Amino acid sequence: MYYLGKRSLGRLHRLHPSLAACVAIAISESDVDFTVSETVRTKERQHQLYYGTPKRTWTLNSKHLVQQDGFSHAVDLVPLQGGQPAWDKCPLVKDAMFKAAERVGVKLCWGGDWNQNGDSRDEHQRGSYDGPHFELIEQFS
Ligand SMILES: [Zn+2]
Repeated sequence: MYYLGKRSLGRLHRLHPSLAACVAIAISESDVDFTVSETVRTKERQHQLYYGTPKRTWTLNSKHLVQQDGFSHAVDLVPLQGGQPAWDKCPLVKDAMFKAAERVGVKLCWGGDWNQNGDSRDEHQRGSYDGPHFELIEQFS
């Protein structure tokens, strides 16, 4: 069983509580270890990622920015194997996160399948694949 390290826990600061709950549940049930790499992003950092070379993001309106409720609605989770990033394991983190979301009662969008067609190949083709990225889907009730 895996658990979040100190650094990962510290990065949950200002992450939406429902999303933080998903991360906490997912790590204890995941088939792969992972670390929290990024949550809250400042406008300045988003600008750097957008205008920088290489271009690291496709939007200036990222869910990583603090939203109206004061929280970031996006988290980047990097799978680890032997302490090293294991990018091919992103789908395992996705499985754990989606199971956790069901228990928490929220809906997530995974950056490995933005259009949620159950396939990552089209995302790779478009260059939009972002395996570590998860964000909350707004729920209007
Ligand atoms: Zn992200």
